[in-house]
Amino acid sequence: MSFVIPGESLAVEEEVLPVNGAYADQYGYVRSMLVGKAILDRYKKTLHVKPLVRRDLTLKQGSIVEGLITGLSEEVAFVKIYSAENNKVNAVGLLHVSQVSSDYVHDIYDYVRIGDIVKAKTLNSSAPYLLTIREPSTGVILAHCSSCGSVLYLHSAGYLVCRNCGRQEKRKVAVGYLYVLR
Ligand SMILES: [Zn+2]
Repeated sequence: MSFVIPGESLAVEEEVLPVNGAYADQYGYVRSMLVGKAILDRYKKTLHVKPLVRRDLTLKQGSIVEGLITGLSEEVAFVKIYSAENNKVNAVGLLHVSQVSSDYVHDIYDYVRIGDIVKAKTLNSSAPYLLTIREPSTGVILAHCSSCGSVLYLHSAGYLVCRNCGRQEKRKVAVGYLYVLR
């Protein structure tokens, strides 16, 4: 199958079970979490997204990258970087609590959570890459409900809301957040 991007609709839930790199939204659409190749297993009726990898690229300081939050402590979020300046990469990024906002951060969970897709800027030029999401153009571009797993929509008041269960959550949202409530 073809090259896909995060949030792209790939199938419907009645037909396939989303596994690695894919998820189902509240409308039953199976979407990609990654930049990669969507692979349909017709026998098992599963769909996974295999990340595209290019290992030879070294990121420059100040690069705009995209990645998935794969781990989180009170101090640091671990980011699996899959794209940098529109190139496919595979790199590890670290987002320190001091770089999620210019303001005092009481709780990093109000800014990023595991499973979020973030756009970030690199602060150095060798792995592991230190990241910042302080600027308005950077931050979370896709997040899911911590209660039911559905896509969260950006409300005009600045918070994220789940259209499935009504839960409201906070993040450091980027200007380009993918799902906006209209
Ligand atoms: Zn929900």
